[in-house]
Amino acid sequence: MLRGRGGRLAVVGLGPGGPATTTPEVAERLARATDIVGYATYVARVPERRGQRRHASDNRVEADRSRHALDLAEAGGDVVVVSSGDPGVFAMAAAVLEELEAGSVAGRWAGVELAILPGVTAATAAAALVGAPLGHDFCVISLSDVLKPWELVERRLDAAAGADFVLALYNPISRHRPWQLGRALEIIGRHRSPETPVVLARDVGGEAQAVATVALGELDPARADMRTILLVGSSATRRFHDASGHEWVFTPRRVPAPAD
Ligand code: SAH
Repeated sequence: MLRGRGGRLAVVGLGPGGPATTTPEVAERLARATDIVGYATYVARVPERRGQRRHASDNRVEADRSRHALDLAEAGGDVVVVSSGDPGVFAMAAAVLEELEAGSVAGRWAGVELAILPGVTAATAAAALVGAPLGHDFCVISLSDVLKPWELVERRLDAAAGADFVLALYNPISRHRPWQLGRALEIIGRHRSPETPVVLARDVGGEAQAVATVALGELDPARADMRTILLVGSSATRRFHDASGHEWVFTPRRVPAPAD
């Protein structure tokens, strides 16, 4: 279909915390935008600019928010939908594409020029704080069962832990999902030694940033909250103190052939 004369829409990631990890490409797009659309907490992270309209909404209205942003762009706006971290990792980019796909059947939003602009995701930002725990193959899993059945989460955890991936666990726990992290750690524990390093990183890049490395066998799930990401080591992940006494965690780049 030929493009009409609509405006443009960018789905962007703000990075994990403060402005230092927002990419220049995203910052520039935000500065030019006529409309900022997103979950209120993330919209609040965008520097205020005169004349810019802000459309802050609740966390669970992704489809409505996506259609609203597409409509604003179709009407000629320079619209930015904001996510934290990277917009393609458990965030708004897929939600916008789902609506765009549904609308395409009826020829909707033909005039919108869409771009997805990447951001620094929580997993890599957390990893950098402690060293390089994601230095070899890793697997990213959300523990939230709001948008998928819990059975599937368990199946994927079991398969990924069984294949000896390092695991990055997003959405580990919330008020409505209090037991899932404990169950996840139990499943992972079937495949890993209790000494396996686990990185708990909270509010990375923000004012309450806190990071700790604990042994899998000693991890209390109550230490995590919804602003925390967990990085669970593979069998190759190590921790050590350098000559100055600073502790690092890393997964070496060379992994031996598996024992039969
Ligand atoms: N799009 C985001 C992820 C959204 S899912 C990204 O790419 O980072 C929300 C989950 O991400 C949280 O429950 C938490 O596990 C993780 N997360 C997001 N920001 C974080 C931060 N600053 N510090 C630690 N974890 C974070």
